[in-house]
Amino acid sequence: MDRSCLDANQKAQRPWPIPGLVKEAIRNDPSLRGLVKVSPHLLPNLSGEIHPVFKHKNFPMLSKKAYRNLNLGLRLASRLLKAKHLLHWWVHVGYGKRVLKQKNRKGEAENYLEKTGNYTERQEQLTSDAIDSLSTLVLWTFDVWTGKGDFSYARTTLLNDHEPQPLHPLFAASGPRNACQVFLHDQYRYFAEEGFVDASLEEQLRFSFSFAATIVHELTHCFAAMRRGFLQPEEWFHIDDPDCELGWSWESEAFGGVILACDQKLCPPGHLVWNTWAEEVGKKQAGGYYRQLVPIDWIAGWFREETWSGESLLCVVQDDLVFWERSRKKVSLVHNSRAMGSKRPFTALCDLEEDSDDDHDCNDKVEEESLAVPQSKRLCRRSG
Ligand SMILES: [Zn+2]
Repeated sequence: MDRSCLDANQKAQRPWPIPGLVKEAIRNDPSLRGLVKVSPHLLPNLSGEIHPVFKHKNFPMLSKKAYRNLNLGLRLASRLLKAKHLLHWWVHVGYGKRVLKQKNRKGEAENYLEKTGNYTERQEQLTSDAIDSLSTLVLWTFDVWTGKGDFSYARTTLLNDHEPQPLHPLFAASGPRNACQVFLHDQYRYFAEEGFVDASLEEQLRFSFSFAATIVHELTHCFAAMRRGFLQPEEWFHIDDPDCELGWSWESEAFGGVILACDQKLCPPGHLVWNTWAEEVGKKQAGGYYRQLVPIDWIAGWFREETWSGESLLCVVQDDLVFWERSRKKVSLVHNSRAMGSKRPFTALCDLEEDSDDDHDCNDKVEEESLAVPQSKRLCRRSG
């Protein structure tokens, strides 16, 4: 498939405001440059085996070169998948008691997972083995999303004509011919084939992080589907969750929230922004939501061995660049800058309207507007 990176992205879309706002903020305050430029002591050094579920054979559409370029992301995904401190999440999906929560719009029963006691070491071991057994039950492929407003990083389907496989006892409900096929956005494939090698280190790290988060997110759907024997409806991980979505539940557990490309662009990857799962789900009713730029050093830390050598939970307050996104077209930079002091309310510094371009100068458009923004937001990285 010979297409440009641009073609692999959504066509005919106006520039997203956040990249222009980041550029403008750095122009006004050069000390913010550190948020987008990786520190020299944080070059990636992550080593270790790639989990068998991510073996090249399971990605039949990828050339050797593309698979090699995905190596960094696959290593991170492998660490995340085997992380001891995240195993309890999978055990709950495997062994939580299914209790009726409600009927969904289709009239199907939606259950939530109730914890009836402490999980045992044996259940943890069986869960870990079941995750490993996904290596013969998941096929990774790529697809293009072309519809307007139809962007998705990935989606998972259930195959029911797969070559019969011996099933782990946790997956017995699924039936021996069931397996999962995951469609990843073709931007991932294209960037791995054509863009990765010449990309900046920051782009490589953002791409690899996004790819790792996406493939483990989809594996949560695969794991649960193999457990129950069908894909939908899923269970609510916890009765009080913002939504019934196991992938977001896992990402919130792993990263303290939802981290996405600010402009739905993966080729090359744009800045990553963070918000909570509840904000993501409630943004329509709330008339918008706050998203903050994820510092590139925070991303880089995931690809460092020392991050994985302890059991510490690393949380940092990062409110240097916060955006108030009211719609796709209307995004404000709300900035609790060091210069302004942390007690002052956030102030909307800049609005880029629908037809603005990246180089728009916001200085004439300073808008004083007090906003009910939390005074601090936390990004968490837990190692171990
Ligand atoms: Zn999902």
